[in-house]
Amino acid sequence: VKWSWRIGRLAGIDIFVHMTFPLLLLWAGMSYYGIRRDPTDVAVGLAFVGMLFGIVVLHELGHALMARRFGIGTSDITLLPIGGVARLIRMPEEPRQEFLVALAGPAVNVVLAVLLGAVAALTDLPLRGGVDILSGHPVRNLFWVNIGLALFNMVPAFPMDGGRVLRSLLAMRLGHPRATRIAAIVGQFLALALGGLGLMGNPVLVLIAVFVWMGAKGEAAAISTETVRGEVPVRIAMITDFQRLEPTASLGVAAHMALRGVQSDFPVSEHGRLVGLLSADRLVQGIRSVGPAGRVEQVMVREVVTADSDEPIEAAFARLQASRERCMPVLTSGVLVGLLTRDHLAAFFTLQSAAADHHRRSRQPAHGEAEPQRGWR
Ligand SMILES: [Zn+2]
Repeated sequence: VKWSWRIGRLAGIDIFVHMTFPLLLLWAGMSYYGIRRDPTDVAVGLAFVGMLFGIVVLHELGHALMARRFGIGTSDITLLPIGGVARLIRMPEEPRQEFLVALAGPAVNVVLAVLLGAVAALTDLPLRGGVDILSGHPVRNLFWVNIGLALFNMVPAFPMDGGRVLRSLLAMRLGHPRATRIAAIVGQFLALALGGLGLMGNPVLVLIAVFVWMGAKGEAAAISTETVRGEVPVRIAMITDFQRLEPTASLGVAAHMALRGVQSDFPVSEHGRLVGLLSADRLVQGIRSVGPAGRVEQVMVREVVTADSDEPIEAAFARLQASRERCMPVLTSGVLVGLLTRDHLAAFFTLQSAAADHHRRSRQPAHGEAEPQRGWR
């Protein structure tokens, strides 16, 4: 991480502070001194800032350790003056995983608030009054800091955790690209509302609004390459060079074709119309039961799961995954035009993400700085 110092390692993850962080401490120290011109205020104030960022590290660790449960590592956690960022090796793609990883951060703050509340209850400390950095009780201050962080992070707008929670919930029903677009719009709407409120006299709100607006735009841009995958029609990815069988062909001919080429599943068509599918398993079973002289139509599957050449590849892939077959015929207005197989689609997605990686990298500045921060806050 450029412009950062390593300050330690927790749970196998390096913790960095950004160079601008000491400037924040200096500014905070000076402001605390300015209130009553009392040097002990500086110590109390800086201790508060230190504990605040300790809590932020725990929040980020919450994300990182939940991500680890899904096999996603974290390259580092960096403290910036505006908060912390956990840089995950990759983003969880499955909505349920994204939901749990996003929720894990605010959940840490809720747990800490409950613990601090319990301490307050046991020591008869009243919690009313909110945060008073210089003269409030540290337990009460930290209690409210955790409540505030949990609420702030659950605002349903990128780059806040709430934005990811919203997106993952939407993605469970609508798919990743559409869910992101909707969540980004919600985030930008919230940013506008915040900005409007801020313009009536709160400059901090305006800053937060700008931050949220950029976050929403950034997230929408970051998925633009992923969106491609969702919008690629089946016809772009399907196999067009394939063999087909007539229903009256013998199983011996089918076996010969399977041995000669790379294809293991054959669509069965009559006058261009799909009438069945002969999978490798069916072929073997068929030869065992009716022999090589038996006809394809005796053993083929007649209820075939098909794809339309114009539908999105993601949708077809999901249906193929859910079916028992390894192969899916593709139709254009009922006429057989192509094939999709699981292996072929895996190869297609790998090639596509390689192209997307190249695209991302070639757009980065020459110095390698300003690496896109797709970190978790
Ligand atoms: Zn977070």
